[in-house]
Amino acid sequence: MIEEPQGNAGPVLAIDGLRKTFGALVATDGVTLRINQGELHALIGPNGAGKSTLITQICGELRPDSGSIRFDGRDVTRLKAHLRARLGLGRTFQITQLCQDFTALENVLLSIETRQGGSFDMLSNPRRKAALVTQARDRLAEVGLGQQAERRVATLGHGERRQLEIAVALARRPKLLLLDEPMAGLGPEESAAMTRLLDALKGQYAILLVEHDMDAVFALADRISVLVYGRIIFTGTVEEIRSNPEVRAAYLGEKRTC
Ligand code: ADP
Ligand code: MG
Repeated sequence: MIEEPQGNAGPVLAIDGLRKTFGALVATDGVTLRINQGELHALIGPNGAGKSTLITQICGELRPDSGSIRFDGRDVTRLKAHLRARLGLGRTFQITQLCQDFTALENVLLSIETRQGGSFDMLSNPRRKAALVTQARDRLAEVGLGQQAERRVATLGHGERRQLEIAVALARRPKLLLLDEPMAGLGPEESAAMTRLLDALKGQYAILLVEHDMDAVFALADRISVLVYGRIIFTGTVEEIRSNPEVRAAYLGEKRTC
């Protein structure tokens, strides 16, 4: 048997034979998937295909029935979600989990503090606070919110909140970013801004992107996997996906967006 390379040389994420059922429903049906270092890998498929269920198993909020998940060369299949986050698995949520009464800057600061295992009290040390604020402002600038640092989350637009969620995830220095429908509910201009942001992040972080906006997926993805009824029916480049008859019949021919 040929051993797969481990750690930095191998794929950042290696999923093998993953299976998850909810009663009679097979939500994840033998999924095998590799995400390489620096790759933007899109996961597409109709509503109910099992995309979010796969994401929640990768981040550790849901335990698979069988199969394995290796992250950064380590078997994390049974590791708790917060420990996976500490290893560098970053995610954003379909439902926002930002602190609405805090400013954008405070939300990112809170995320940095969580990563470092500290509490918000550590910000009472002025020198330490200054260093952390600089880091937090860098993350906000990275997602295009440099000018919005002092605004409370409740006053930000929908697209800006999505950008902030990504800044909060980046503050934890992820090796892999899991993005579940970052463009859901955004207007055309906000979606275009999100596409530009993901394009800027591409290559710096490995990204698993679940997204229905096929224009964005085709513009961004290095490779795309198509999930239908819990099974990956095809993985390939944009060109391979576009020209695959099975994919067209199962997904692309059906609808371009959901
Ligand atoms: P997608 O994100 O691709 O739209 P989901 O992963 O949310 O799909 O759901 C896949 C299937 O699993 C759906 O049929 C959904 O109803 C079902 N499902 C998801 N979570 C649960 C759960 N906690 N209990 C029972 N069924 C679930
Ligand atoms: Mg979903």
